[in-house]
Amino acid sequence: MSDPTRLRPLKEAARITQMLDVVLGADRFDRMPVDVIGLALEYSRQIAPDSPIHEVVERNIPGCVGALVYGEALPRQWAILYHVGQSDGRRSFTVAHEFAHYVLHRQLIEEDRRFDGGLYCDENAVVRRVGSGIEKEADEFAAALLMPFHDFRRQLPAKARADFETLSRLSKRYGVSLTAAILRWLEYTETRAIMVVSNEGFAHWAKPSTAALRSGRYIRTRETLFELPAQAFAAKRDYSDAALTGVTQQAGVWFPEPLHEMCFRSERYDQEITVLQFEADGPRFQPEEDETDVFDRFVRSGQAPDL
Ligand SMILES: [Zn+2]
Repeated sequence: MSDPTRLRPLKEAARITQMLDVVLGADRFDRMPVDVIGLALEYSRQIAPDSPIHEVVERNIPGCVGALVYGEALPRQWAILYHVGQSDGRRSFTVAHEFAHYVLHRQLIEEDRRFDGGLYCDENAVVRRVGSGIEKEADEFAAALLMPFHDFRRQLPAKARADFETLSRLSKRYGVSLTAAILRWLEYTETRAIMVVSNEGFAHWAKPSTAALRSGRYIRTRETLFELPAQAFAAKRDYSDAALTGVTQQAGVWFPEPLHEMCFRSERYDQEITVLQFEADGPRFQPEEDETDVFDRFVRSGQAPDL
């Protein structure tokens, strides 16, 4: 890495992860997820006794999922807000994201006039994890803190395919939403897989694993509506046990190659999560490139998959 500051979110998260491993034991996730609210209150008092986070509270903040705010007094006194109506899992990631802004960006937020009174974060930044700059840093910190790779990889090896039973068990292990757990898995899996989030027969957004992206398998949803294939579970509104287990879809249904499709519906958020998994070896191009190069090339050519 040419720019060491890019690693700061991961370094800060690793520092706290190591501390929690020492204090609670390396097997801590067998017992419970990270208590991120307690951690935010306690850790902020340790690193900034004069300027800590005083409370983590639910508020109605329309258009946003979370915020890191400060009051008039100096030195600044902080609070984390999370928008009403979030599931426990989503709230956990939201609070971790705002805690990241506190650890990494509180000085910037306090000094920069753009952030008068605090920083407010929307769903794209927190749930879909497609923010840039400090939003991306906060997501990286939150994912690393709540779902450390050293534990996640042991639970679901990089070469293994996933099923909903495993993925939902992991979402409970880490106290996060199913979406957040799947996004984390897609970050390191060496298998070719894509998550598709849809509603009413259309994909709202989708995220491929690196291996899928490299083989040209991704779904474009930016500035376009992607209509699900008629045979897809979500298009058929089939949310039976068979959809959860999944089926093999023939070449031509989703892509010019067969794949395994499984689908889970969230009533709470009125959307479907479909996971597509391909056979191990698919079409490859320029395999010597690393993932950044491949992705940058998509971005430059205006064909960015909607990550
Ligand atoms: Zn944010």
